[in-house]
Amino acid sequence: MSKHSISTSLPGSLPRLVLAKGREKSLLRRHPWVFSGAVSRIEGKAGSGETVDIVDHQGNWIARGALSPASQIRARVWTFDAEEHIDVDFFIRKLRQAQCWRDWLAEKDGLDSYRLVAGESDGLPGITIDRFGSFLVLQLLSAGAEHQREALITALQTCYPESSLYERSDVAVRKKEGLPLTQGLIRGEMPPALLPIKEHEMQLLVDIRQGHKTGYYLDQRDSRLATRRYVENKRVLNCFSYTGGFAVSALIGGCKEVVSVDTSQEALDVARQNVGLNKLDVSKAQFVRDDVFKLLRKYRDQGEKFDVIVMDPPKFVENKNQLAGACRGYKDINMLAIQLLNPGGVLLTFSCSGLMTSDLFQKIVADAAIDAGRDIQFIEQFRQAADHPVIATYPEGLYLKGFACRIM
Ligand code: SAH
Repeated sequence: MSKHSISTSLPGSLPRLVLAKGREKSLLRRHPWVFSGAVSRIEGKAGSGETVDIVDHQGNWIARGALSPASQIRARVWTFDAEEHIDVDFFIRKLRQAQCWRDWLAEKDGLDSYRLVAGESDGLPGITIDRFGSFLVLQLLSAGAEHQREALITALQTCYPESSLYERSDVAVRKKEGLPLTQGLIRGEMPPALLPIKEHEMQLLVDIRQGHKTGYYLDQRDSRLATRRYVENKRVLNCFSYTGGFAVSALIGGCKEVVSVDTSQEALDVARQNVGLNKLDVSKAQFVRDDVFKLLRKYRDQGEKFDVIVMDPPKFVENKNQLAGACRGYKDINMLAIQLLNPGGVLLTFSCSGLMTSDLFQKIVADAAIDAGRDIQFIEQFRQAADHPVIATYPEGLYLKGFACRIM
């Protein structure tokens, strides 16, 4: 028997989500989502986020998951094992599995901050947990995750009695699930306004309470390190800089100058502090508050040139209808960047839009070079860091992709 008393699913007594005929195929391949169109009916009473047994049209058991009555993604699977119940022990098992991989990474790369739980890719749909030093930051993105809040918090308390727990469920996707936006301290100490974390020889300040996402873009860690190799004695333009991770890395790599651009003054202020914190020469760093789309045109008209350009825009695509427009946006900024590069210059360009495949993104960058009238060599490929793993049954988990390109 479990030593924990909170049990959120009672064996044999769960409501059932019955699939429409022939709509079980993706689940049999262990993809963790059920779209609304695949649902025939719900048998029994099941509220938002409650655990349901998912069965095919003949009643054969397939999976156990959480119901999201308001969302197009009508259910997300917790388990494909009929014997497994969704309770505190379930979350403890998942957290331990996830921690095992991060321990190895943290040890190997000397990290004190990483994504501990990457939702579906760690078997916990709708749940993101980031570690920043002694703080855990929790983001609950689905009705099921919200429904399991207490069980998850109890599991976190068991696994991490020493860590403070802060919630950043103030993300727009919660509206699709019919959930309010919320944030605040759950347990332990209030995070400081700016918490220093370690990343590949850098110290970087993270604003857990007000920063973007859970405070910092952990997923670009490896690309920030890779950038260091390309910048010695170079003039670097860091577009969409946020708190200047790429700028600090470029300064460590010995760049001559780095210009960081972002629309957020708060982010640029932290970026400037990050340069100082790492005892780097602040006179080599410029911080420009501007719209990248406008500034690139201004630089082009002024004849400004750079040797290396980092292009790390926010997500342009939320759904399939926006993909064509996003492609134009990516092509536009990449073409402008290519035009600003000296011959032999390097473009480090990224897309964090899940709907944009790596192949399509490479084609867009190639087209941008053609339009700019320049030859391009693709020399290195990037993806999200390894604490954002991708599982075979959920390829959508691969959302961040990038290229280092040499522009002739
Ligand atoms: N490169 C950063 C992460 C970038 S996130 C890192 O390594 O941490 C995207 C950033 O783009 C955000 O900081 C956001 O404020 C900024 N942004 C969004 N639209 C912008 C625009 N049109 N011009 C300039 N910055 C923009």
